[in-house]
Amino acid sequence: MRLSHAFIPTLKETPAEAQIASHRLMLRAGLVRQTSAGIYAWLPLGLRVLRNIERIVREEQDAAGAQEILMPTIQPAELWKESGRYEDYGKEMLRIRDRHDRDMLYGPTNEEMVTDLFRQSVRSYKELPQILYHIQWKFRDEVRPRFGVMRGREFLMKDAYSFDIDHAGAVASYRKMMLAYMRTFQRMGLKAIPMEADTGPIGGELSHEFIILAPTGESQVYYDAAFEEIDYLSGDSFSHDKPEDLARFFEVMTGHYAATDEKHDTARWDRVAANRKREGRGIEVGHIFYFGTKYTKSMGAVVAGPDGKPVHPEMGSYGVGVSRLVGAVIEASHDDNGIIWPDSIAPFKAAILNLKIGDAGCDALCEALYAAFGGNALYDDRTDRAGAKFADADLMGHPWQVVVGPRGAAAGTVELKRRATGERVEVTPEEALARIGG
Ligand code: ATP
Ligand code: MG
Repeated sequence: MRLSHAFIPTLKETPAEAQIASHRLMLRAGLVRQTSAGIYAWLPLGLRVLRNIERIVREEQDAAGAQEILMPTIQPAELWKESGRYEDYGKEMLRIRDRHDRDMLYGPTNEEMVTDLFRQSVRSYKELPQILYHIQWKFRDEVRPRFGVMRGREFLMKDAYSFDIDHAGAVASYRKMMLAYMRTFQRMGLKAIPMEADTGPIGGELSHEFIILAPTGESQVYYDAAFEEIDYLSGDSFSHDKPEDLARFFEVMTGHYAATDEKHDTARWDRVAANRKREGRGIEVGHIFYFGTKYTKSMGAVVAGPDGKPVHPEMGSYGVGVSRLVGAVIEASHDDNGIIWPDSIAPFKAAILNLKIGDAGCDALCEALYAAFGGNALYDDRTDRAGAKFADADLMGHPWQVVVGPRGAAAGTVELKRRATGERVEVTPEEALARIGG
C-alpha cells in the first residue's frame, strides 16, 4: 500500500474522548473511527490487524478440531424464550421487530442457536464429540461503552460450542479449548493467564477467564509468575490429541495460583512466594464455560446413547474477544511514540520510508523494495519531511522500518530500524529483506 493514496487518517492531536492508550492510539494511527456510541468502522490499517488476529484464532480452533460455521447476527426470539433467557438477558439485548411483527434480536451470544442447529441434525452419540465455532459480530447494549473497541456495543467475537455425551468428554473438550486459547494468545505475544471465574448469566459449573495485565484493566487480579514461563507452542509442550497431555496441561493451569478479585483466596495467595507474586489490573480477552445440560435440557436436544436411551449432551461455550484483542495488544505493547505491533499481527511487516521523493536513486530503490514485499509493506511515498515520516511510522507501529535516503541509495545501503528496540543498522537492501523475512 502506498501511503500517499492510503485511507489512513492519522491525527496529530490526542482525541479528547479517549481515556486509555489503546483507544488514543487506534484513533491517532487511523485504525478505526466511531460511528455511534460503542460502534466502530474499521479502516484499512485496523482491519488488517483484526483479520490477522482472526486468522490466528481460526488456525488454533481448527488445530484443536473445532469446525467453523457462520451463524447469522439476527436471531428469532423464540429460541431465547425456549431457554428462558429472553427475559433474563435484560437491557443488554437489542430487540428488534420485523415487518410481520415477529420478535427478533441482534445476537449477544449463540448458545440457543447452536443448540437448535445441533438438535435438528445430530441423532446418535456416535457423532459426538462436536465443537462448532464461528467468528461473528455480536451486539450488547452495554450500559457504559468505553475504552474504544475494548468495551464496544457491536464487537467481533469467536465463540465455540462443544457437545459431548458425558461429563468426562465435556471436560476433555474444555481442556482442549483452554489449550487452544493459551496457544492463540502466545502467538499474539500476550501473556494471558487463565483464572477461575464466576459463570454469570451463561450459567454452569466450571469457568475460566483469560486475563492480561494492563494498568487500565477493569478488574483486580492476582497470579503466580510461574505462568509467565510456560511455553505452549514448542513441539514438546502439550498436544490436543492426547488425553494424558490434556490432563497434565490442566493440572499445570489450575496448580499455580491465579484469581480475579471475585475469587481471590488470601490464604492460598499467602502461600505463593513473594518474588513470584504478580498483581494488578487485568483485561479479559477470553472466557470459557462448562455448563452441562442447561441448554440441551431446556431446548430438548437429545441423542441416542450407547444403550439406545435418549441422552441430553453436555455443553461448553468458549469466547474470544477478537476486536477487543486489537486494543488489548496495544495496551500491552506501546510506548510514548505509538504502537509496537508483534510481528504476528502487524498490519504490514515493514514500512519503507523514502526520505527524498524525486531523487532517482531513492525512488528506484524504494520501488524495488516495495515490489519485493509483495503487498506486505507500507510505502511512505508522501512528499512530507523526514521527521513526519519517522513519527508516523512509529505511531503506526510497523515492526520494521526501512529508511531510504539519497546517500545510502547511492552507496547501495538502507537503514533498518526495529520498532520494538529502536535498534538501527545500516545494511544492503537484500540483507534488510532477509532479516525482515519479506
Ligand atoms: P465482560 O465481563 O468484559 O463484559 P463477558 O464475560 O460479558 O465480558 P463473554 O460473554 O464471556 O464476556 O464474551 C467473550 C469475550 O468477548 C470476552 O472475554 C471479551 O473478550 C469479549 N467481549 C465481551 N463483551 C465485550 C464488549 N462489550 N466489547 C468488546 N469485547 C467484548
Ligand atoms: Mg459482559
